[in-house]
Amino acid sequence: MSAPAVSVVIPVYNEEQGLENLFARLYPALDALGLGYEVIFVDDGSRDRSAALLRGQFQKRPDVTRVVFFNGNFGQHMAILAGFEHSRGKRIVTLDADLQNPPEEIGRLLAKMGEGFDYVGGVRRERRDTTFRRWASQAMNWLRERITNIRMTDQGCMLRAYSRDIIDAINACREVNTFIPALAYTFAQRPTEIAVEHALRSAGESKYSLYRLIQLNFDLITGFSIRPLQMFSLFGMLVAAASVLAYVIVIIQRWILAETFKEALLAVWDRDILQFFLTGMLLFGLGLIGEYVGRIYEQVRQRPRYLIQAILENQDSGSRIQDSGIAARSAAPKS
Ligand code: UDP
Ligand code: MG
Repeated sequence: MSAPAVSVVIPVYNEEQGLENLFARLYPALDALGLGYEVIFVDDGSRDRSAALLRGQFQKRPDVTRVVFFNGNFGQHMAILAGFEHSRGKRIVTLDADLQNPPEEIGRLLAKMGEGFDYVGGVRRERRDTTFRRWASQAMNWLRERITNIRMTDQGCMLRAYSRDIIDAINACREVNTFIPALAYTFAQRPTEIAVEHALRSAGESKYSLYRLIQLNFDLITGFSIRPLQMFSLFGMLVAAASVLAYVIVIIQRWILAETFKEALLAVWDRDILQFFLTGMLLFGLGLIGEYVGRIYEQVRQRPRYLIQAILENQDSGSRIQDSGIAARSAAPKS
């Protein structure tokens, strides 16, 4: 079977309310491109009717549809990784299932790739999310620009296109916690960006709680830079230097300076506040080290990053359901 020109990878987690809309817009948009394509849906352990809807769509378009079912919720980025591993296209496009990324933009991403770029990132013209999300995202973009070598205008936009070479490199990585657009960027030779539309979620609600967002951003920062650790030790050095200075000041003040100035100094150098601050920094630093250690721990355990329950795909002989042995052994539902 010859490789299609483009594979579209879509992670799906409890998206029953929006999936029919997605099918209704995605397939015509892809048909209109006049290219060979395949759509790979990865069901990330949905507990609603998403799996059934994906099965239905596979029945309708088995020629161009493949569905990978996880047997638990392993996260958006793991779902995309699984989609990559099962993709065959020469170019790969990622898209969210909630229609926040218009499928009609895929053609423009591919046209840009045709100009010789191997990575085309989408930049949302006008981001349609809550004010808090927009603000938090801007702050994280700012931080990432400063402490990693990854240059992206809009890291949160999942509407992106990658060359087969980049996807092969990603498939060779065994990272457990990762952030796909950043990982892909590290392998890109000619990355570029284009402005894309963004819409309100068509149905359902965001799958990211504040906690999951923080986790995701730790993946982005600690996964691509050890600068936070370096900053922290730098800070430790500064504090040590400052305390030596303070000691000198205290000695001078005790022996030489007048009483009034001494009191002024003591007021500035309030020990309780200083203690508070230093304890806070210490805890922060410990937590930071913990983040890295936790990631090393997950990496060295070498557990499978995700478990596949079944794959729906059209083989040469016709469609079939492929069950993987590993899933059969651990089919207990995850809570
Ligand atoms: N998603 C997923 N697994 C998860 C969380 C999200 O596969 O654990 C999918 C989700 O179905 C959607 C995409 O990832 O297709 C982006 O999720 P969402 O729209 O909730 O994120 P937001 O737009 O709020 O950043
Ligand atoms: Mg969304």
